[in-house]
Amino acid sequence: MARYSGAVCRQCRRENVKLFLKGDRCYTDKCAVERRNYAPGQHGQRRTKVSDYGVQLREKQKVKRTYGLQEKQFRLYFDKADRMKGVTGENLLMLLERRLDSIVYRLGFAVSRAQARTMVRHGHFSVNGGRVNIPSYLVRPADVIELREKSRKIASFNESLDSVMRRGVPSWVELDRDNFKGTIKAMPVRDELTTPEFQEQLIVELYSK
Ligand code: SF4
Repeated sequence: MARYSGAVCRQCRRENVKLFLKGDRCYTDKCAVERRNYAPGQHGQRRTKVSDYGVQLREKQKVKRTYGLQEKQFRLYFDKADRMKGVTGENLLMLLERRLDSIVYRLGFAVSRAQARTMVRHGHFSVNGGRVNIPSYLVRPADVIELREKSRKIASFNESLDSVMRRGVPSWVELDRDNFKGTIKAMPVRDELTTPEFQEQLIVELYSK
């Protein structure tokens, strides 16, 4: 599948918010949003009036870019969220959070979702004892995600597990650092998803036109 291959910091600058796409750098003053807080490109510093549609579109792009998805894939998640019981926008965020690559990132095995996706694809993780190499695999409460035995000596996993302390592990997952294992305690509730801030109802409005 085609992927965005440009500079990822441009995506944050375009959305004018830190999307935390690059790992440790995002927490330092080298962050591009901190240094150049305007949209990229020749006209990035122009003042423009943004329409309601523009606001909704930017919110959709923000969420899509945070989870590293393409439009078609993102739309499929929305359609699935819409068919579920409950609030569509919240369902959408919960589905995205349940992706295996997102959980691997949340547990601290990777410094970014992009890195987590690559690691999952390379078969470094198992879910409930079985090897899973599909980043979009949806985890459920009580699932156990484990770094496979032969991957435990790889330095990047250990470094990122050490750095997760700065980011923090969310309350709906539990990390067993010594055994390279994480457990899904529960599905996240909306209030626990705070970084970055999303206004998911704008996406619902956009796709409901
Ligand atoms: Fe780049 Fe991270 Fe800052 Fe985004 S938050 S601009 S990815 S350093």
